[in-house]
Amino acid sequence: MSNKGCQQLQSTASEYLVRHRSILDVMSKFQDSSAHINRSIVKAVTTCGCLEIDASKQSIPDNITLSEISNYVQTHLKGTLCPNCVEVLENELGAALFYLAGICNLLGLNMDSIISKENERLETLGVYSLM
Ligand SMILES: [Zn+2]
Repeated sequence: MSNKGCQQLQSTASEYLVRHRSILDVMSKFQDSSAHINRSIVKAVTTCGCLEIDASKQSIPDNITLSEISNYVQTHLKGTLCPNCVEVLENELGAALFYLAGICNLLGLNMDSIISKENERLETLGVYSLM
């Protein structure tokens, strides 16, 4: 997301989150939007069928380096999202970002700054930051 996009979303969230002004409402709406994202992925598999999930235990050899792990770890996904499922998921992800912007607003946090700091942290610590 561009810096302008983050600032604009925070501004829009501030403008439109009138009814859900309580941090409790915004927190629960954010959590609800996360469930909707998961549900949209499930529906892409079980209703549309454009996506399949074929999961089993990850099999990672003992003697490989951390940077080689990505060569062995599976996504468990087969297929690609169809245009309809892309649209549904983009809407659900957008809603989640909207409520995340609302949480940032209520707590006086800046999404641009958070994203920049996270990028710097990841670039500095690399894969070790995710362990
Ligand atoms: Zn689909």
